[in-house]
Amino acid sequence: TTSSPASKQHKQMSANRRKEIEKMISGSSKKEHLNLVVIGHVDAGKSTIMGHLLYLNGVVNQKTMHKYEKESKNIGKSSFSFAWVLDESEEERITLLDAPGHRDFVPNMISGAAQADVGILVVDAAPDAFEKGFEADGQTKEHALLARSLGISQLAVVVNKLDMAEWSQSRYDDIVGKMSLFLKASGFRDKSFSFLPLSGLAGENIVQRKSDVLNAWYNGPTLMEKIDSFDPAVRDINKPFRLCISDLYRAQVGGLTVAGRIEAGVVSKDDKLLISPLNEVCTVSRVRIHGEAVEYATAGDYVDISISGVDAQLVSSGNVLSDPEKPIGTTNRFKAQILTFVPQRPILNGQMAEMHYSSLNEAIVITKLIALLDKTTGEVKKKNPRVLGDHATAVVEIQLSKSVQKKICVELYSEYKQLGRFTLRENGKTFAAGIITEIL
Ligand code: GDP
Repeated sequence: TTSSPASKQHKQMSANRRKEIEKMISGSSKKEHLNLVVIGHVDAGKSTIMGHLLYLNGVVNQKTMHKYEKESKNIGKSSFSFAWVLDESEEERITLLDAPGHRDFVPNMISGAAQADVGILVVDAAPDAFEKGFEADGQTKEHALLARSLGISQLAVVVNKLDMAEWSQSRYDDIVGKMSLFLKASGFRDKSFSFLPLSGLAGENIVQRKSDVLNAWYNGPTLMEKIDSFDPAVRDINKPFRLCISDLYRAQVGGLTVAGRIEAGVVSKDDKLLISPLNEVCTVSRVRIHGEAVEYATAGDYVDISISGVDAQLVSSGNVLSDPEKPIGTTNRFKAQILTFVPQRPILNGQMAEMHYSSLNEAIVITKLIALLDKTTGEVKKKNPRVLGDHATAVVEIQLSKSVQKKICVELYSEYKQLGRFTLRENGKTFAAGIITEIL
């Protein structure tokens, strides 16, 4: 029990150990990890800009770039070259998640945004192009709202293709004015978004300003400087430990190693961790980052943790490791705020779906449509709606499918961002994204 002398001693030890680790962390120069998503209307220039950025930073060389361009043209999707580059490069500072802007690809953008902390929204400044993307059903607005709903905390709006608008400051100011009003009305705080003028094609203001066209009226940061100035993802080092197992390796003789990203807290050798929903406690025998044994690892790190004291056959991916003193909760029912895209049919009470979150897929049922919300203000528009259509924001109740008869580990989005957001799919198509607001 927790009051036995041995456990007291253990607690004392781990408290001291924790202090030691905190000291080490504050003195270390660990690179912060930034999850960045690039969003915007199809053809706004996302691929061009990001390709330049990576190329100019030497992350990919010209040969590789050409190879990808050719391959992606071969399959008829030129903007894919960017995604492919990203797949292969081992950029440490930034994790770029491709977010193609075409309507059909909105779901991809969602799974990207669901993992991101910061975003770049690209808008097209060419005559009429901005207006088109900004119309009622234009993707610029939809993407911005989505970014907001999924908790992108910092957004840089890139006003692209200024070469097609004669590098005009008044065109830039006009777009900045309209977007600012919209972003504020959508719930972005003043300090959470900023703007910069750019031309992806001319390579202007990405890493440097080569000519005077922009210098005449702009002296703010380049895109690269902007990205560097994003606050790194908040590392929840002081919160109770959480890690959702994404992979596991069973050694031939005993021993089990699990892998995943630490969402919160710190882990080091000899720590005791609870495995949920198994409800078994294990002991950490080794912690590794990129295959190298380390003294400790913290929130934000992708780690391999070798554990003992548990039957390796019982553990599976999707299980969560947490602090036994402050464990993660398990449930089969919760309330969520969801955003629908283009569901194959209107959503009614009883709609079944597959829920994707962390590394889990679960069969669920939407058991109650509680309220329809105003997209921009978040106010209740209608209680107990009978049906949810396209592009709706709503509060719903979700239950694990009865046939599954089990509980899953979830957290409130407000407390553990990554463990509190999910997407819903039917027949392989994502039709909604959501955040958990109440565990029932
Ligand atoms: P994405 O769909 O948002 O990834 O857009 P792309 O990067 O594929 O660009 C769409 C088209 O716009 C391509 O033909 C680009 O060459 C062009 N483009 C991108 N950026 C600029 C720019 O700054 N100026 C001009 N004139 N064209 C651009």
